Amino acid sequence: MADAPWTARVLTLYPEMFPGPLGHSLAGAARARAIWALETVDIRGFARDKHATVDDAPFGGGPGMVLRPDVLAAAIDDAEARAERRLPLIYPTPRGASLTQRRVRELAAGDGAVLICGRFEGVDERVLEARDIEELSVGDYVLSGGETAALVLLDAVVRLLPGVTGSAESAAEESFEAGLLEYPQYTRPRMWEDRQVPDVLLSGDHEQIRRWRRAESERSTRERRPDLWRAATGSRENGTNG
Ligand code: SAM
Repeated sequence: MADAPWTARVLTLYPEMFPGPLGHSLAGAARARAIWALETVDIRGFARDKHATVDDAPFGGGPGMVLRPDVLAAAIDDAEARAERRLPLIYPTPRGASLTQRRVRELAAGDGAVLICGRFEGVDERVLEARDIEELSVGDYVLSGGETAALVLLDAVVRLLPGVTGSAESAAEESFEAGLLEYPQYTRPRMWEDRQVPDVLLSGDHEQIRRWRRAESERSTRERRPDLWRAATGSRENGTNG
């Protein structure tokens, strides 16, 4: 299946939320060209009673409802049974490891991913253990459902797939790719509201421009994200990167 598209299989209670923004621009065009494929699975279709119940109250009390493990596992197992390739199972959750550009790159290098979108207070812990599901967070805040987190992850992955952005160089220079934030960007007009584009960018001296951009990258990473700066300088000292 060398030519099969990168496949996103999304398990959700709201299939109509997809492709949403990924139906437009780069991701939309890439999907039309079959660089990636999207399949949605309605979790409610795996409910076991006539009321199509997918959730229940948490044991031990507390607010909200929890997605049932039997319903979710049935949806996951069905998706896996019908798939031609085994894909990583991912549950977006604020409790997960932070989604990084490194993990995005790894996912883009694979065949696809199964994304399990939580709702309510989340999913029963046992299904995460039993199906060996990776938990990833898109940030330290709480969304109302996993669908927007899945869209964030897919957007980040799809733009790295070969043939999507048209410029591998542009992806390589972006924030996080070298463990640093990107340098500032400027375009026409040269003068805007009394603000001048830095002279070096108009000099035509490519080596000077490269050095200026590198210095700006380092400065903004140091000032804005000391955590990234420490990791970047630490990993360079250890002879590793990324
Ligand atoms: N009770 C959960 C907690 O405190 O961790 C939050 C549940 S949230 C209201 C419902 C769903 O949204 C979660 O199951 C998860 O799939 C998704 N979600 C919310 N915030 C997220 C984040 N920062 N990253 C990834 N997924 C998130």
